[in-house]
Amino acid sequence: MSRIFSGIQPSGELHIGNYLGAVKNWVALQGQFESIFCIVDYHAITVAYEPAALRQRRREMAVSLLASGIDPSRATLFVQSTVPEHTELQWIFNTVTPLGELERQTQFKDKSGRQESVMAGLLNYPVLQAADILLYRADSVPVGEDQLQHLELSRVVARGWNARYATDDAPYFPEPKALLTPTRRIMGLDGQGKMSKSMGNTIGLLESSDEVWAKLRPAMTDPARVRKTDPGTPEVCNIYHLHKAFSPPETVDEVARNCSTAAWGCVECKRVLHANMETELVPIRARAAELRERPADVALATGARRARATAQETIAEVKERMGLAEAAR
Ligand code: SF4
Repeated sequence: MSRIFSGIQPSGELHIGNYLGAVKNWVALQGQFESIFCIVDYHAITVAYEPAALRQRRREMAVSLLASGIDPSRATLFVQSTVPEHTELQWIFNTVTPLGELERQTQFKDKSGRQESVMAGLLNYPVLQAADILLYRADSVPVGEDQLQHLELSRVVARGWNARYATDDAPYFPEPKALLTPTRRIMGLDGQGKMSKSMGNTIGLLESSDEVWAKLRPAMTDPARVRKTDPGTPEVCNIYHLHKAFSPPETVDEVARNCSTAAWGCVECKRVLHANMETELVPIRARAAELRERPADVALATGARRARATAQETIAEVKERMGLAEAAR
């Protein structure tokens, strides 16, 4: 069975953008691939943060992932910093990663441009990502289009290391392929850009029904629908795309028809969406409430043990090939 790896930052409770854009796909993939999913807390410390808040956000992310359907008996789920081989391999990869490749990364250019003093961790972030993936010699990585550049860097790193310490006909690290996430990018409720906590335009996956409705009701729709009698264009409306994610196909067709003929108003359309979201979110909220009662299940120790066993095998082989350990044979 081929192996996939994917990571998510410990941003606390999931919002429906990262649930639909990544985690729902992981849940589907865990039956088809040997799946390794990681809460990447080392990636979260490249910007200023509060240690107590990070601990809390890491726990909340674990609750959200498990409540969403990640099943620890079918997938390996763990926290990155509990497997120290990630940073060990990163150091090794720093020695085969061209500096120019890192400086060219769009995310580095965006983020460093907004900071007065740029830390080395921000530049080397994609090298840690390469280590995350290659430590498990994953064949594929489920990603959104915005992460393709980082994945390409992982391929560059794998090639660079293989060129020095393996042979062309027997490369040690596979060059991981992208498994593109089928759901298109979920926009924020303000319709201004990607749904993101930093933009304050999210709906939390575990928010109550009333909280969800309070956010949905004023959410941006097609600006052409000024009056209820103005016909709209569903494709330009984020609510329509949320229907596609939460509502059955016949409802999606009905939304398109009623919108383009002005047969209903946006509030009515949103009420139907809210009801369909509830169908999916009520059981997730219930599982999250149960998990909060059982902190040991959220600690992810079993996943970390399983991940570490594979990670240690990789590091042992890497160190032997690099002359960092005595040859076993
Ligand atoms: S009717 Fe629905 S799809 Fe059309 S603009 Fe309003 S909220 Fe959007």
